[in-house]
Amino acid sequence: MENSSTFSESFVTITSTMSTAIWQDVLKTLEPIVGRPNFITWLKPTRLLDQTNDYVTVAAPNYYAKSWIERNVVDEISKILARQFGRPVEVKIVVVKTEAKTDGELPLLSLEPEEATTTKPRSSAFNKKYTFATFIVGNSNRLAFAAAQAVAEKPGEAYNPLFIYGGVGLGKTHLMQAIGNALTQDKRNKKIIYTSCENFTSEFINALQTKTINEFKTKYRTVDVLLVDDIQFLANKEGTQEEFFHTFNILHQANRQIVITADRLPKEINDLEERLISRFGWGMIADIQSPNFETRLAILQAKAKEIGADVEPETLSYIASTVTSNVRELEGWLTKLVAAAQLERLPASVELARRSLKDLHRPAASHLTTKNVVGEVARHFGIESSEILGKKRPKELVYPRQITMYLLRELLGQSYPQIGEGLGGKDHTTVMYGVGKITRLRKRSQQTDADLKAIIETLG
Ligand code: ADP
Ligand code: MG
Repeated sequence: MENSSTFSESFVTITSTMSTAIWQDVLKTLEPIVGRPNFITWLKPTRLLDQTNDYVTVAAPNYYAKSWIERNVVDEISKILARQFGRPVEVKIVVVKTEAKTDGELPLLSLEPEEATTTKPRSSAFNKKYTFATFIVGNSNRLAFAAAQAVAEKPGEAYNPLFIYGGVGLGKTHLMQAIGNALTQDKRNKKIIYTSCENFTSEFINALQTKTINEFKTKYRTVDVLLVDDIQFLANKEGTQEEFFHTFNILHQANRQIVITADRLPKEINDLEERLISRFGWGMIADIQSPNFETRLAILQAKAKEIGADVEPETLSYIASTVTSNVRELEGWLTKLVAAAQLERLPASVELARRSLKDLHRPAASHLTTKNVVGEVARHFGIESSEILGKKRPKELVYPRQITMYLLRELLGQSYPQIGEGLGGKDHTTVMYGVGKITRLRKRSQQTDADLKAIIETLG
């Protein structure tokens, strides 16, 4: 087991290796369905407690986890197990409490190391690479950059809160860390916390469970600057929203700086309480868009210099004009090219770039939209787009709709709530279920595989 909480150890002994393996398989199947953040927060700490012929008992570390699992994945779990056992399986979730946390133990819902909160020591709290100096400014991010700088100069005074939103890999975390880095240098000795929303959630839950809620509150309510990354993960977490709401109010009233990032606007975050949405708009909302060609080129030049790679200027232009999705990808392709050049002992030429970027030229998903995908699925099944988007639920529409959900996830990388919204307001759990269903069907059913291949090919 990866983490050695008392929780996992407490019943490893009563669970045979074989059933542990079964449970690991179930978890593996569930991870892509629920997404990594949910997986880490809710499913990873679970264990198989007991298993008989027709039911299994799964241990969850607390009532939050239990109720999340019951609301979202319990049916899925019994289906997976039923397939494995070849008979119906009933799933029971029970809470297995641990003894109070003692020093030196990992928190129950411990996150991956790289996702842990970075509070102290102050010197290593922030990623040194992510500074204002290494951030390339262009029209797509000028406002967010300026606002972040203003906040770092005058925390609590300029814009409070600062809400930065934009698509994946466009520099939100970079800017937030840059604020942290700048303030760490600052003589005023501010107390700063950077945390991901998921980490905030699991710390909160852990605090409830280990009766350390007062420490938790003190920690978050006494900072000078609170940086919360990826707040969209507050969706559907009522208890944590409530706690965050109070934290927000207390800090805001005391003129403490709050900075929040998200992948979308506050009002587009599913099930975010109205009072939080309105508060997020009190200060400044700044967006980050995809960079244009010139900014992409400037980022590549800076990156090439940083890694000390000798890349021909035309090659950088070639990459900048080819990779248009986001900055993380841009960096990734540059690194790939540089590695290929070293491996083949060739100059990093346009020719080599063309070869090493060839994967990128395959199904170019970037021009795809929800509308295209819905349209093509409808055409394939001989129905109307409006039927896929509609609210009526006749049996024959279930499969095309699930295929659509799967493709939006696979080809466009949309989140479950995003897909739900794009398909006429379907619940994200319905989407989660649909995507999971097709993921499995694709492996088992030639028909499904053929349907998907045909549609993807036409979308080309
Ligand atoms: P997000 O949090 O929005 O998903 P990140 O902040 O993690 O994105 O950025 C992804 C990568 O791209 C990081 O390595 C970051 O340094 C880099 N990056 C993004 N925008 C810029 C920029 N304007 N200048 C330099 N690097 C950038
Ligand atoms: Mg980020």
